[in-house]
Amino acid sequence: MEHWITLTNLPASGREFLFEDQEVWKTLWADAQYDIHVHTPLVATISVFPHADGFLVKGRLTGAVESPCHRCMEPAHIELRHNFELFEALEDIDEVEGEEPRLRRVGADWELNSTAILWEEFVLAMPEKILCADMCLGLCPRCGKNKNLESCACATAAQNSVLAAALQRAQIKIM
Ligand SMILES: [Zn+2]
Ligand SMILES: [Zn+2]
Repeated sequence: MEHWITLTNLPASGREFLFEDQEVWKTLWADAQYDIHVHTPLVATISVFPHADGFLVKGRLTGAVESPCHRCMEPAHIELRHNFELFEALEDIDEVEGEEPRLRRVGADWELNSTAILWEEFVLAMPEKILCADMCLGLCPRCGKNKNLESCACATAAQNSVLAAALQRAQIKIM
């Protein structure tokens, strides 16, 4: 999915573009096979300022999404408040093969690939490790129970064996 914005006749003071269509995000997440849902609608703005050798792009992405916690798999709430700034140089138009171009020329006009920019910034805005809470205890590796909700006997058994081993070492010292 791509969306290009036309950068024709930009005033020197720049022009702001607003992105509020949640369907775009849903499609991007589905394409990337990300398990993400909108919690508070995502709103993005991109302001573009013309320069002699390129375009200065300033933006902001806000909203909130839900995605499974990496530890317990329950939905984690992720608040997005992301500011970004980048420069798209005209000379970069012949970009590296395989990379999605951000700028293209159509006749006398320049166009900016807003979808590519928003997607990249969304990925940057997301935390590296998604957690429902910093203190999330996760799932028990043995029985699979959510340790935030219920305790299981596995942890106690493991602790007991640690204690037993410590006692054993202590006894050896005493002897
Ligand atoms: Zn969790
Ligand atoms: Zn367990």
